[in-house]
Amino acid sequence: MSETERVIIVGAGHGGGAAAATLRQYGFKGAITVIGTEPIPPYQRPPLSKAWLKGEADAASLALRPPAFYEKATITLRLSTTVTAIDIAGKTVTTDAGETLSYDWLILATGARARRLPIPGMELSGVLELRTAADADQLKAALGPGKRLAVVGGGYIGLEAAASATALGSSATVIERETRVLARVASVELSHAYQIAHRKRGVTIELGAQVAALEGADGKITGVRLGDGRLIPCDVALVGVGAVANIELAQQAGIMCDMGISVDLAARTSDPSVFAIGDCTWRPLPHYGRDFRLESVPNALEQARQAAATICGRAPAAPEVPWFWSDQFDLKLQIVGLNFGATHTLVRGDPARESFAVFHLTDDHHLRAVEAVNMPDAFMAGRLLIARGTQLAPAQICDMSVALKDLVA
Ligand code: NAP
Repeated sequence: MSETERVIIVGAGHGGGAAAATLRQYGFKGAITVIGTEPIPPYQRPPLSKAWLKGEADAASLALRPPAFYEKATITLRLSTTVTAIDIAGKTVTTDAGETLSYDWLILATGARARRLPIPGMELSGVLELRTAADADQLKAALGPGKRLAVVGGGYIGLEAAASATALGSSATVIERETRVLARVASVELSHAYQIAHRKRGVTIELGAQVAALEGADGKITGVRLGDGRLIPCDVALVGVGAVANIELAQQAGIMCDMGISVDLAARTSDPSVFAIGDCTWRPLPHYGRDFRLESVPNALEQARQAAATICGRAPAAPEVPWFWSDQFDLKLQIVGLNFGATHTLVRGDPARESFAVFHLTDDHHLRAVEAVNMPDAFMAGRLLIARGTQLAPAQICDMSVALKDLVA
């Protein structure tokens, strides 16, 4: 590692910003350039559908680091700039400003984009997605007392936005094509609890509903037409139907990709000088013996550390068990692990009281995942039990008189 080495980070999101800061923390002395399409320095996306939308967070609290940090750490930010091509043989990137920049190490932190629906009406004003701070500002401006929000997609974005809209005095209708919300990411037990919780707090949820078109008048959205002919009237529609990994740049450069940019546990791609981190990666999950694409901040941070450590000649830390969180109303959801290989679930606590956890176990009672709602000790214990591969006694999990910390000890 010499002072003349140059790292270029493509993507100024959570992962890209964290990689730059971690490189300095680990003692990297060379030049670091972070290139990002958005006009603002790296910021946190999770509050966009929660505190930011509700007006409880300001721009400073959204920022990953204060602006002065980058100057002090001599990290160059090239914002409002998009990398259009990578030449892995020549070790250069080309930007939309027509520049060609050389690197010794390249970190791709290109993230994911909101999936678009191939239906009529997507171009209407008032049809929004939620990925960037600019998207969140648009949504925030459209919400308020008496406004009607229609959300297409009952995933994290949809449910968090519906909860925030309700808190702002708007009405919210969530339209989900599956027979339950959070179908991609959660168990049946959790989905049912969230449906009940949202409905109890005034959110309308339409399940098994196809969206045929977005309808409008004078170029502005007025409602969502369902496949069964019904119209859900609205003032604003949010489309939250999943994310698509931004892998095209890597693919065009000849870097190996699967469902994301393929990386190892050092976040290294098929090219030894190129790393990839965050939502755009297809990564090994050693606790589960398979590869997967994770869409979460903890994953981006873990891989930022892996890439920075490798560039600085350090051994990467032990792999983490993946984890996720979501805040909706007063429900704090914490998920640790993934249910690959699990054959059954056990519930600790009481879903009706909105304090419970779903434990996902294999046939031989090894824990694969825990979904904890307002039960942080279940999340904490689950994290350790999964990492250690502990075999559990099922009766103890459901027995509230058994402290979970005793299972970990
Ligand atoms: P998501 O979690 O994948 O949920 C999208 C939902 O929309 C799925 O349930 C999907 O059902 C449904 N859907 C797809 N097509 C539909 C259609 N035509 N009509 C109605 N429903 C449809 O994605 P997201 O909520 O859009 O979130 C986008 C990204 O932000 C993800 O990476 C997510 O993890 C991330 N995010 C995370 C958090 C958090 O961790 N707390 C919060 C916000 C956002 P199918 O399963 O049938 O496709």
